[in-house]
Amino acid sequence: MTGDGTRVVRAGIPKAAAYEPALPGPVFAAHFHLPGDAIGPYTYGREANPTWTRLETAIGELESPDAPAHTITFASGMAAVAAVLFSQLRAGDAVVLPSDGYQLLPAVRERLESYGIEVRTAPTAGDAQLEALDGARLLWIESPSNPGLEVCDIRRLARAAHARGALVAVDNTLATPLGQRPLDLDADFSVASGTKALTGHGDVLLGYVTTRDTALADAVRTWRKTVGAIPGPMEAWLAHRSLATLALRVRQQAAGALALAEALRDHPEVTGLRHPGLPSDPAHETAARQMREGRFGCVVSFTLPDRAYAERFLEALDLVDDATSFGGVRSTAERRGRWGGDAVPEGFIRFSVGVEEPADLIADVLRALDTAGRKRRSP
Ligand SMILES: *Cc1c(COP(=O)(O)O)cnc(C)c1O
Repeated sequence: MTGDGTRVVRAGIPKAAAYEPALPGPVFAAHFHLPGDAIGPYTYGREANPTWTRLETAIGELESPDAPAHTITFASGMAAVAAVLFSQLRAGDAVVLPSDGYQLLPAVRERLESYGIEVRTAPTAGDAQLEALDGARLLWIESPSNPGLEVCDIRRLARAAHARGALVAVDNTLATPLGQRPLDLDADFSVASGTKALTGHGDVLLGYVTTRDTALADAVRTWRKTVGAIPGPMEAWLAHRSLATLALRVRQQAAGALALAEALRDHPEVTGLRHPGLPSDPAHETAARQMREGRFGCVVSFTLPDRAYAERFLEALDLVDDATSFGGVRSTAERRGRWGGDAVPEGFIRFSVGVEEPADLIADVLRALDTAGRKRRSP
């Protein structure tokens, strides 16, 4: 029985060796010495790299501590998402995507359809994807979803999909493996962007796929080699280094997000407040059942009266950067509608809570709301 805080500092770290560092530095190599036949763990840099191997071992230990698993890391979350979809689906197959998932899924859909793959969509909330499973080859789940923070019952959907012969992938970006373990909830793939909370410093793009099935892992690895969507050794090393603080960050950020959500709950100009950790949130009951140890993620979403109000709010914040992405140590927030890809109101804010003191952050947010509201009342 090892706790997450203990597991993360040791994950993927090689056995101690005299005069060697705990986490060996990045290996920069396009090719490796290769005597004789073209076999060995490291041959050419597009196939494998020791820095990736250590990181992949580490992520596998976090996503699947109780059963052996394979992890394949990628240049970005989208490279990982694409690897699962395009390595598994062929012309004539059907796939079920969430209608409210990551903003690039519509572009992915268009590409899948151009290859003769049938794409069905249904909302995350209410396990609505259940209705679209008949004859599907793959079910894609995003829970909690970004940016709407809807949650579905992963185990229920996975069992229904498996009963119909479909594979199940879960985008675990928002929760991180410390907040949710999709493979323990019967999914075949846990897929994530490591760019967000996993690495947490806003300085690395990365993605990964974890599966317990060797044949599925081989297909995903072959896809990576084929399209060359490989992580750089420096990025992989930075990601591995960041894992040591993952438990600290996830706990602090989840606590801060819940505190912020509670502070916003009764604010007269805040509507549509969502955070899966809020006991009053429609997603809370399902989230509490399948997410781990009260770690509901660092994102809070809410809607301000209009676009101008939201812009004044963002402008008035001192401790929070107006920036996209989420999961970083520094709080960020953005008016999500500026991208045009999500079905959200003009005043919709996606707020990512960093590791600042929650009391400081809440004071800054309430003050900025006050400033934004005052300007509105006195033109
Ligand atoms: C950011 C994100 C992705 C894409 O990851 P990148 O690293 O930006 O390519 C995929 N899914 C979700 C839920 C995300 O938030």
